[in-house]
Amino acid sequence: MLVRNRISRIYYLKKFFDYPITMKKETFANLGLVRTIKVGFRYLKSVFIKKKETSLENFYINRFGKKLYSMFFEKYTEKLWGRHPSKISADWGAQRVKGLSIIAIIKDSFMKLFKIKGNKVETSLIEEFWYPKYGPGELWEKLAKEFEKKGGQILKSHKVKYVNIKDNKVESVICIVNDKEIEIKGDIFVSSMPVKDLVEGFKGDKVPKKYLNIASGLPYRDFITVGVLVKKLKLENKTNIPTLGNIVPDCWIYVQEPDVKMGRIQIFNNWSPYMLKDPENTVWIGLEYFCNENDEYWNMTDEEFTIFAISELEKMGIINKEDVLDTHREKVKKAYPAYFDTYSEMDKLIEYLNKFTNLYCVGRNGQHKYNNMDHSMLTAMETVKNIKNGIQSKDNIWNVNTEKSYHESKEN
Ligand SMILES: Cc1cc2nc3c(=O)[nH]c(=O)nc-3n(C[C@H](O)[C@H](O)[C@H](O)COP(=O)(O)OP(=O)(O)OC[C@H]3O[C@@H](n4cnc5c(N)ncnc54)[C@H](O)[C@@H]3O)c2cc1C
Repeated sequence: MLVRNRISRIYYLKKFFDYPITMKKETFANLGLVRTIKVGFRYLKSVFIKKKETSLENFYINRFGKKLYSMFFEKYTEKLWGRHPSKISADWGAQRVKGLSIIAIIKDSFMKLFKIKGNKVETSLIEEFWYPKYGPGELWEKLAKEFEKKGGQILKSHKVKYVNIKDNKVESVICIVNDKEIEIKGDIFVSSMPVKDLVEGFKGDKVPKKYLNIASGLPYRDFITVGVLVKKLKLENKTNIPTLGNIVPDCWIYVQEPDVKMGRIQIFNNWSPYMLKDPENTVWIGLEYFCNENDEYWNMTDEEFTIFAISELEKMGIINKEDVLDTHREKVKKAYPAYFDTYSEMDKLIEYLNKFTNLYCVGRNGQHKYNNMDHSMLTAMETVKNIKNGIQSKDNIWNVNTEKSYHESKEN
């Protein structure tokens, strides 16, 4: 593992802002006097006139004021979820950014200011993390090898289509392998496939309609990423953080420019330079787009989409298209489990699923929860603990990633 600096910033008005936004001199300098005054007045208004928290929009406005909300939350939320914040429940904000507000940001900025007195300001942006030399997949490749060494068998390209259930137990799964159906029986089933597909695939005992409706109504956001290899970026590294080739130091850049569809940019050089052939003279960036399966972006050909993505990079002043050396596009279904529609009834579905004594739902889509990799792994570890110790309750597995402190500080 490499020890890396995690640096993410917001790109807005062709300038960099801290992520999450902070109340420091540079922020106001970037915004300019007129916008700063508007931000201040709109914030004051929100202090005295509170909106009823009937939507995520009102939740944000109550905490940040209308101007700051419209600059840093409105468009990005819509890009990410495909719905305007006025159409998303305030619960999402309560879970994801509870405690985050102007006051919290000012307090945090002051604390950091005093703590880092005399230091370089940018250090406040840095978090350290471990990263596999060749990317996260390396971890799982290694794990799979270890598992097989110990006698485990991994069946790849076996798509579970049906799950045979009887008397509150899972008896077997029917997989599609080379267009043929094969049945695999088991004592214990740990499922990380999307809950929607799992319940829709139940066969045998009849699934009560109310649970089927909840599962079928669970929403997802799909994802397209385009890798672009360029000779150079037009962005200048104005921080004092050293990087190979002196590129900007960010792992992720959150794109808040309202006139582009792009949501985020990854700079793979900064995750691990070993993922590049020539990290000193080229840059691999990953452009992230949030979309819905079968929408106009999903259905574009690789070539059409790549041309579109590169034109957005040019529009934002990030690259010259003449500098592009290579590209690659990937589409990912159900990348983000979303918290609207029937999600509000997820607790009922969990209760139903818990009745299956030998079924454990783990991971991100397996639990329909915004789990990161650490949480996803933890749900599996808790499952193993329960199986080994004969613990019947599954509460500890579903309760992973419900602690508030995590959500208060992270908005991934
Ligand atoms: C754009 C993006 C960026 C992210 N960045 C980070 C990050 O920086 N840090 C972090 O910690 N997490 C990050 N995550 C989240 C992380 O990827 C997930 O938490 C993690 O991969 C979830 O692990 P999982 O095993 O539950 O699901 P997955 O990794 O999705 O694995 C589920 C597997 O089940 C398979 N499957 C699905 N249906 C079936 C079926 N019917 N039959 C058989 N197999 C099936 C799928 O093909 C897949 O291989 C990110 C996610 C996205 C989308």
